[in-house]
Amino acid sequence: MKDNNFIKVLDYKIYKNSISDAVKYIENYNKVHIISGNPEVLYSALENDKLLNNFNSENSFIIPDGVGIQIAAKFLKTPIKEKIAGIDLMHRIIEKCEKEGKSIYLLGASSESLNSCVANIIMKYPNIIIAGYRNGYFDSNEEEKVVEEIKKSNPYCLFVAMGCPRQERFIIKHMKELNCKIFMGVGGSFDVIGEKVKRAPKWMIKIGLEWLYRVVKEPWRIKRLSSIPKFLILVYKNNR
Ligand code: UDP
Repeated sequence: MKDNNFIKVLDYKIYKNSISDAVKYIENYNKVHIISGNPEVLYSALENDKLLNNFNSENSFIIPDGVGIQIAAKFLKTPIKEKIAGIDLMHRIIEKCEKEGKSIYLLGASSESLNSCVANIIMKYPNIIIAGYRNGYFDSNEEEKVVEEIKKSNPYCLFVAMGCPRQERFIIKHMKELNCKIFMGVGGSFDVIGEKVKRAPKWMIKIGLEWLYRVVKEPWRIKRLSSIPKFLILVYKNNR
């Protein structure tokens, strides 16, 4: 799908319009894998052929998640309309599913976090159809059972919150056999919706400092942050 709704950053096609447009745009796909394109995810996929090929496949839809991508887009003189955080798009999709009577399945996070996430979703979207949910801690020999469970419940949309690249691997592996229309890896979003983890205050999100808030709250994330400069340096080198 080649059109002017995307910009090119390194090998990736990143959606450039607003979040509201994105919700409409994904209707164009028969089946879509939504990827939260933050520098960490995109940088690590460069070193993994399978992920890279999938991220560039015609069923993939990469959103500009994070200030790093926004900076890269500006540098390339192809600015994006706005940052699209995975969790915000997830909310918009749930809202739309609620309106249209379509079902969702939630896979991932700890049972405790998942249960409060489900409860909060029902509170916020009382008419949403939850086809099923399951925590994200299972062995590889249980994976087929998990997939069968999802198949049986036949959701329209599958959210997978198991961290990157585990969630992307799961989606890529099972996308064909599952009948869902929307597949989305949502990282730590179930923890945020379940209120196990707090999101940064709005003003910090607005000025692009959500990453700083997360590092202060969860210092082990500092290591992961190194992918932002690495990514930006690569973008710079590729554009010289
Ligand atoms: N998780 C999971 N199964 C695993 C490992 C992690 O379900 O085997 C969950 C974890 O409980 C958390 C999410 O995956 O809810 C990962 O969140 P993280 O904040 O690391 O993701 P990010 O948003 O940084 O990609």
